[in-house]
Formats: sequence, C-alpha cells, structure tokens
Amino acid sequence: MHSSDPRLYRGRFAPSPTGALHFGSLIAATASFLEARSRGGEWLVRMEDIDTPRNVAGAASDILRTLEAFGFAWDGPVWVQSERHAAYQAALDSLRQAGLLYGCNCSRSQIAATAKLRAVDGGWVYPGHCRTAGLTDPGLAQRLRVTTQPLGFIDRIQGEVTQHLAAQVGDFILRRADGLFAYQLAVVVDDAAQGISDIVRGADLLASTPRQIWLQRCLGYPTPSYAHLPVATNPAGEKWSKQTLAPALVPQAASQQLWQALRFLGQAVPDELQQAPLSDLWGWALTHWSLAAIPRQQAISAAAVPG
Ligand code: GLU
Ligand code: ZN
Repeated sequence: MHSSDPRLYRGRFAPSPTGALHFGSLIAATASFLEARSRGGEWLVRMEDIDTPRNVAGAASDILRTLEAFGFAWDGPVWVQSERHAAYQAALDSLRQAGLLYGCNCSRSQIAATAKLRAVDGGWVYPGHCRTAGLTDPGLAQRLRVTTQPLGFIDRIQGEVTQHLAAQVGDFILRRADGLFAYQLAVVVDDAAQGISDIVRGADLLASTPRQIWLQRCLGYPTPSYAHLPVATNPAGEKWSKQTLAPALVPQAASQQLWQALRFLGQAVPDELQQAPLSDLWGWALTHWSLAAIPRQQAISAAAVPG
C-alpha cells in the first residue's frame, strides 16, 4: 500500500459517513473508479469520519454495502480517519516545529466583527489577530500560516485555477478548539500516506484544493493531479446533497442509476444499456470511459436527481 513507484496510478473515493450515498456520491465514485481502472491503477476507499458530531451510526457500513451492490471493488483495506489521529497529530507537530502553526483564541463573533473580506467558501477571511501573539497553548484552535503568493494549478477538467490564499481564505484552522482535526489536514495527510497520485472528486471541493496544495508544500508531500467533476445542482443552484434532500441510492435500481451517472459525466452510453445487467454496463464503461468527455463545468442543473 505504500509503494512510491511514480508510475503507479492510485485513486480514491473518500465518503463521509454522514448518511447514505446519493447521486452526487455516485458521480464521484464512478468517475474516480473508471479513471483509475482505465489507467491500470488502483482505487481505494477511505472513510472520512473525522468530523465525529456529523457521523451517523451505521452509515459507514451502509455506504460500503451500497458500493458493493453497485459493482464497485476497491483495493486494500478501507482506511478510517478516526483511527488516524496519531498521524494527524504528528503532522501538526512538525508544522509547529517549522513555525507554520499558531494558536488562536478568537471567537467566531470577534472574527465576524473585525473581518474585512469574504472567504471563498462563504465565511470570513481570518484577519490575523493571533498571528503574532505567540499563543502556544496546544488546547487552542491551531491555524496554519498561508502564503501571500498566488497559488495555481491545472485541473484536468476545470483548467487553470488560481487562488490568493491570504486574500481569499486567510490562515486556516487545522485543529479546532474542540480538539477535532480539520478535514483539510486529514485529507492531505491521508492522501500522502496512501500514495494517492490522482484525485477525482466533486467541484464543490475545488476551492479547498489550493489550501490542500499549500499544506502539502508545508509538509514536504508531493502534490497529486486533480480533476474536479461538475456537481448536480437543484433549481435553486444548491448542490444536491443530504442537506438538500437528495434521495439515497437504490441498489435495486443500480443499472439505471449508474447509467444516469455516466450520462451526467458526458459519456455516450447507449440507451439500450439502461436496463442491462450491471456487469454489461460496467463492461461498456470500462472500455469507453473518457475523462475528456466530462463537461467542463463546475455545476450542472438537474431539476431532480435519480433516487
Ligand atoms: N469526505 C469528503 C466528502 O464526502 C470528500 C473529500 C475528498 O474527496 O477530498 O465530501
Ligand atoms: Zn485569533
């Protein structure tokens, strides 16, 4: 599992066990799986249960059963983030040693009252009060210093992406005051530890990618290649998700739903295959998969999503 062979393609699907898989999850699972397999690579599944208050009992095993029912097969054991705290703590310690981390005791309301800039993901750009305060109490929220240089990368679907972390995000939290490790830290540590070469996931995470690349640089990790898929949005322009009541995937309707996911991904899957056995559909998909056919959009409106 820790091969460092630079020629090896290794992709992953990283669901959070906050509920059942839905059409949006199927799109990310299907595209990451087909890209990995069509390039002779490995495909891993990782359970991102780091945000423990959001976990739903039974969701993790339900997700794995649903993936199996849809015909997905993964390589190696499923990594579970709640078992990886020591690795996240070690990464924090090395960042602290490098002077890149600092404690922050600002409250949410203090930040809202003094911040001047809106952040890429809707919150506020941290105005930096504690940046030079030298707060070393490890029980405080821990923030990572960001670069003032623009940070860019070429996404295989979305093209050139540039973000100014200092102006659009600010120093961001890697460990919260309540002790929870942040998604940004856990995902970067695990992608590196699992030797992930290629990340294929929804464009709702595009704005997080510069933060993750910055963190990779701070930790001395390689940067994987990225491909961000369009996400399905409802007529209000919101991503179809558990919060917007996207219906759960139905294993009994796996063929139709997989067919719809392939169509959503721009693949020219024939109409006849909509009712075909799952194995025929996978057979078609594995030989015809084309990342280049995926619409170069961050969102595609869908009045309803299959469920
Ligand atoms: N766990 C994240 C989610 O379910 C995905 C993280 C990732 O693919 O980087 O949205
Ligand atoms: Zn602060």
